[in-house]
Amino acid sequence: MSRNEGVAPAVPAAFPGVSEGVARRLALLGLRRPCDLLLHLPLRYEDETRLRPIAQAQRTPGSVVVEGVVSRAEVRPRPRRMLTCTIEDDSGAIQLRFVNVHPAQQRSLVPGARVRASGEIRPGLLGAEMIHPRWRLVAPGTPLPDRLTPVYPTTAGLAQAVLQRLATRALEGCDLSDTLPPALLARWGLQAFEPSLRLLHAPPPGAPLQALADRSHPAWRRIAFDELLAQQLAMRAHRRARSARRAFALPTGRGSLAAQVLAAAGFMLTEAQARVSAQIARDLERTEPMQRLLQGDVGSGKTIVAALAAAQAVEAGYQVAVMAPTELLAEQTHRKFAGWFAGAGVEVAWLAGSLPRRQREAATARIASGGAAIAVGTHALFQQGVAFARLALAIVDEQHRFGVNQRLALREKVTAASAGQEAHLLMMSATPIPRTLAMACYADLDVSVIDALPPGRTPVATRLVSAARREEVIVRVRDACRQGAQAYWVCPLIEESEALQLQTAVDTHAALVAELPGLAVGLVHGRQKPAEKAAAMGAFQRGETQLLVATTVIEVGVDVPNASLMVIEHAERMGLAQLHQLRGRVGRGAAQSSCILMYQPPLGPIARERLRVVYESRDGFEIAQRDLELRGPGELTGARQSGLPLLRFADPVRDASLLEAAAGAADTLLDHAPAAVERHLARWLPDAPAWLRG
Ligand code: ADP
Ligand code: MG
Repeated sequence: MSRNEGVAPAVPAAFPGVSEGVARRLALLGLRRPCDLLLHLPLRYEDETRLRPIAQAQRTPGSVVVEGVVSRAEVRPRPRRMLTCTIEDDSGAIQLRFVNVHPAQQRSLVPGARVRASGEIRPGLLGAEMIHPRWRLVAPGTPLPDRLTPVYPTTAGLAQAVLQRLATRALEGCDLSDTLPPALLARWGLQAFEPSLRLLHAPPPGAPLQALADRSHPAWRRIAFDELLAQQLAMRAHRRARSARRAFALPTGRGSLAAQVLAAAGFMLTEAQARVSAQIARDLERTEPMQRLLQGDVGSGKTIVAALAAAQAVEAGYQVAVMAPTELLAEQTHRKFAGWFAGAGVEVAWLAGSLPRRQREAATARIASGGAAIAVGTHALFQQGVAFARLALAIVDEQHRFGVNQRLALREKVTAASAGQEAHLLMMSATPIPRTLAMACYADLDVSVIDALPPGRTPVATRLVSAARREEVIVRVRDACRQGAQAYWVCPLIEESEALQLQTAVDTHAALVAELPGLAVGLVHGRQKPAEKAAAMGAFQRGETQLLVATTVIEVGVDVPNASLMVIEHAERMGLAQLHQLRGRVGRGAAQSSCILMYQPPLGPIARERLRVVYESRDGFEIAQRDLELRGPGELTGARQSGLPLLRFADPVRDASLLEAAAGAADTLLDHAPAAVERHLARWLPDAPAWLRG
């Protein structure tokens, strides 16, 4: 497999002195070579450099280290197998308590054993106790560590001790030299690389724990800068390389096909749509490949803009591929495109994984012969065996929903030049991200924004309702549906388990069927077969079902203008961007629409704040900004939802000033220090595909 695929190798690369099982777990963390450990940095630290007498430790808040001799150990089999043992020193005694104890633990923790344990001490039923402390047997007088103990991100079955050992080895054996010229460090007030890294892996006692925890420490800032710089370098290199490549020039001609499509759609473009359409039309006329991101809030009308771009390519005699992340969405897009292009006699093929083999082959043949000028589908469009006769434009809807690997594979496919020419690429996303962030994070793309909704929309009225008032909500749903409206009922999100998520959807559906006799209630969830899902959606779209119970699969793109009521259960569990996207499913017709956010009291402060933001704001950009501010450190949901390339250490909001510095530094380095660029990218993006590395 070439390293351009952006996929983890099936067999982990050799890690000297490490078992295959451990190597596999390391690979799960993205650690494939010994020196990858350098940049696998601790989440936090434990201070195990001080031993406290037990009596004093009991009065000390937070994590402490104590040492004592086991005076009593006891295993209770019920209700859960539990080991309790008492350790004593000259000053006092505490209990150590372990649930689901291993036999080996039990054999070690016997009276007379000397134990060093660290953890938090809490008052318990039988006096002060430590639950599941970290512990080991020690000889009297065993020295304490002289550094803070790092706690690394890990995965099941991979012990901290192993990561600590490998990190220490990496610090000894790997290249820690600075990739950046001293002048650049001085200019931006940055600390050198090696001391930063050494400090982060093994801070001395007395290191400023707060600054390490909130990542404002200069060592963290250096690492964050490096990461942002690598990202900027990669994107800029890509952008620069693009101008040297060639794409098919697609003249706008007389634009009669576009006019026919628009006439078939039956509405006038909004000013915002017309503006971005013109930008795209100009891009397509040029021989430099377009790579444009079209951003527009849910319901802003991106589909017609995509169709007009497609019309330009088709009229010039080329083919267009339109890809959506789910069959549901692809199917809907196919229906729209087929309707809009039918009058002009343009064939729109449909290709998805669920298609029976015979039909799939037929579609593939139409695409290969060029008979189908447009093909709409899922990522099946870019799988093996699908070859376009003359693809000139690829459109990716809801691009942030594609996995990173799919996106990379797609880009490679699309930009793989045929006869020296490649396809233009239009990506669309409904997740607005704040402007500065877009600039920084999409430095390799051009960005167009549809910043106004089509006319005739009535804003969605949002209500917050406690789950205790579920009965009233049911009545509301019944009344609305009796009056001819349709409603969505979104099941609570259960992130921990897909099986539970499914069960909840099925249960909710059954309950609502019972509670709403006389209403036709449909169900869609992520585990349905594509055909089932399409059938359920189709029935709702045609108005055969009035209420649709759904998991968050309906979050993106589904368009049913007659649906004017949405109920979201356990809204407090959902992210801001997600709530905004869900709410965007209603308010698409002229009728007054409502969104009822049901929550389970009591609300935590963050959940309360989130709900307040969704309640008060309808502006996707504002919501995205607040989302970034509200998410906790290390929580990646926001980044994932906005489709940003994942950053491990830097936070584009917290580190906004570093981001700007990195953007400036990237330009300087690309112009004047190509060797430094190469070394920096080799350190930070060793697995990046070739195009990313410029
Ligand atoms: P999204 O940007 O979320 O993909 P869609 O393209 O699905 O939005 O458009 C949402 C709805 O708005 C569709 O029903 C579409 O037909 C309608 N629409 C789009 N543009 C206009 C317009 N200029 N005037 C009136 N309705 C429009
Ligand atoms: Mg859409």
